[in-house]
Amino acid sequence: MTGRVLVVTGASRGIGAAVARRAGATGWRVAVHYGAAADAAAAVVADIRAAGGVAEAFPAEIADAASVAGLFAAVDAALGPAGGLVNNAGIIGGKFPLMDAPPGAIERVLAVNVAGTFHASAEAARRMARRRGGSGGAIVNLSSVVSRTGGLPEETHYAASKGAIDSLTLGLARELAPDGIRVNAVRPGIIATDIHDVHGGRAFLAGFGPQIPAGRPGTPEEVAATVLWLLSEEASYVTGALFDVAGGR
Ligand code: NAD
Repeated sequence: MTGRVLVVTGASRGIGAAVARRAGATGWRVAVHYGAAADAAAAVVADIRAAGGVAEAFPAEIADAASVAGLFAAVDAALGPAGGLVNNAGIIGGKFPLMDAPPGAIERVLAVNVAGTFHASAEAARRMARRRGGSGGAIVNLSSVVSRTGGLPEETHYAASKGAIDSLTLGLARELAPDGIRVNAVRPGIIATDIHDVHGGRAFLAGFGPQIPAGRPGTPEEVAATVLWLLSEEASYVTGALFDVAGGR
């Protein structure tokens, strides 16, 4: 068996799928995590294997600590302990004014985006930490430029969840550096994926393009390139950094 094991959460589509495919092509043994989309995850695994890589698909509810523990145990058994983690699974969680927030909606976006990132990071760190017999590793978190802009109208809950990702990235980078674990975040701008269905999908993406200095939304592959660089030894002295991949926005 060659290559270290990379867990990519929410890897059945969008940015996560692009990260998983690129990781498979660059020698990582890829754990393709998914929530419910088993067929889409299997297609990502098939793509990686067809290109000569190693991958397996694993389901878990990322907001649930026990489910995430089960995910990492299953990865241990099938591929080996994680040496890399990309905390990509996330939701916008709906579009609503604060005063009309549906019951439970704010709790849900924080549970998935923030608690889920903590749960997966803890499981990964237990396996990577030098103080626990591991050989170090790297974690990349998917934040967003909305952490510094406040977000699109009526999506403050999402922006706040990404602000928390920035803070936990800075804190965990310092906490885990003595264990040989680097922790960084990528902050995409508008990237062409299905996450935008909540506020208009393709029409939104087409309309937003002219507001971006680069003149267009980004692609999942453009985000994946930065994620894979941060996971690599090329970034061996990079930790606690927040990288905007946002076309100048
Ligand atoms: P996406 O909706 O295409 O993919 C998100 C993935 O997360 C899906 O596969 C989904 O099944 C999974 N997921 C969501 N909730 C889950 C849960 N509770 N348990 C398990 N899996 C769950 O979105 P995307 O655009 O590829 O976004 C990926 C990440 O990048 C997200 O964290 C998102 O916030 C962030 N991001 C995206 C953009 C963008 O413009 N697309 C911009 C900035 C940040």
